[in-house]
Amino acid sequence: LREKIRDLEQSFSQKYPPVKFLSEKDRKRILITGGAGFVGSHLTDKLMMDGHELTVVDNFFTGRKRNVEHWIGHENFELINHDVVEPLYIEVDQIYHLASPASPPNYMYNPIKTLKTNTIGTLNMLGLAKRVGARLLLASTSEVYGDPEVHPQNEEYWGHVNPIGPRACYDEGKRVAETMCYAYMKQEGVEVRVARIFNTFGSRMHMNDGRVVSNFILQALQGEPLTVYGTGSQTRAFQYVSDLVNGLVLLMNSNISSPVNLGNPEEHTILDFFSPPVNMLSSVPKRIRLNPNAYRGRAVSRSQIQFLSEAQDDPQRRRPDIRKAKMMLGWEPVVPLEEGLNKTIQYFSRELEHQANNQYI
Ligand code: NAD
Ligand code: UDP
Ligand code: UDP
Repeated sequence: LREKIRDLEQSFSQKYPPVKFLSEKDRKRILITGGAGFVGSHLTDKLMMDGHELTVVDNFFTGRKRNVEHWIGHENFELINHDVVEPLYIEVDQIYHLASPASPPNYMYNPIKTLKTNTIGTLNMLGLAKRVGARLLLASTSEVYGDPEVHPQNEEYWGHVNPIGPRACYDEGKRVAETMCYAYMKQEGVEVRVARIFNTFGSRMHMNDGRVVSNFILQALQGEPLTVYGTGSQTRAFQYVSDLVNGLVLLMNSNISSPVNLGNPEEHTILDFFSPPVNMLSSVPKRIRLNPNAYRGRAVSRSQIQFLSEAQDDPQRRRPDIRKAKMMLGWEPVVPLEEGLNKTIQYFSRELEHQANNQYI
């Protein structure tokens, strides 16, 4: 019998990534809304491995069960198919509220739903936090700064958002979500944390979500021209997902209730940015069949770029001022852009291979 138990224990620990043991007083019951998405699933991994009890709530609009399937069946893990626009009654200690489409094509696909998710969805999660006395962290965004007149953007800046443009459903939705957090804090004493997240990339981001990193990598892997919107002189700063996840956990467990920027301050023009992903294609494993026209380590010439018209209300410059996070959380990004891109390219290659292997099934 003892042998049988040992075998069972062994197969259990082999089945799941390693999980720390936490005593009952340190173990928290944590809700992650949007936990089957790109950022949420990495956050799920970290908090599970840290030994907490996780409930992931997701309506699978842009998230996928596959992102968290390695935890399904684990005694500390529960996945609920639920839309945060509907009320939710559970008992938890902390709420990471990430549910919201995040890429421009996704949030513009159904602007009314994006608004409902960010307003009614956030209201419900704050109502839940109030009822059970939980702390809530809102995944806000650098988009609250709009097309900024202050550069780099610090947390004091109020922003420059077109309230009726195509991005407004997301930008204004997140601004209202922040307003709600502080109303619940002041009026109801709910403990809130607000992370203003800047462009983030990494494995499990959707290949077809239309963001610049996923588009460029996919286009480069498939030997297609890279699509640049406008002149390509607009800038962004990109952080790798593991840096963001560490920042979110530090912020949640800090005593800072005012908004905090989380992003990588290294700024690139979109035109600048396209060279590394393409040059890194030489690192893609040989067994992956790429389009024969793929660039494979060759420098990109301008003929391999397709210039398309500029996106409406596209912020022209964006770069976080992260002095607050550095000073108050002791946080700063540590993953270099090239290393993060390399990992992401490997992930996209595996995904393409997976798709190719499954298309005839
Ligand atoms: P994502 O689309 O991969 O994840 C969002 C998740 O929320 C998905 O799993 C989706 O199915 C779920 N969701 C959407 N609407 C829902 C609803 N009504 N009810 C329940 N679940 C719902 O995007 P992501 O990049 O992981 O973004 C996560 C959060 O971080 C979002 O709130 C986003 O606004 C914020 N953020 C992300 C970035 C970035 O660059 N990735 C930048 C700034 C802010
Ligand atoms: N809510 C929820 N779960 C809870 C408590 C509240 O989803 O555990 C929702 C509730 O449906 C309401 C919203 O959160 O629409 C705001 O709750 P609050 O208590 O602040 O408002 P009230 O119910 O008093 O209107
Ligand atoms: N962009 C581009 N080509 C693409 C996708 C995006 O030139 O194929 C540009 C886009 O216009 C913006 C920048 O890249 O200036 C970042 O876009 P993304 O959608 O990744 O993020 P966000 O606009 O939300 O920062």
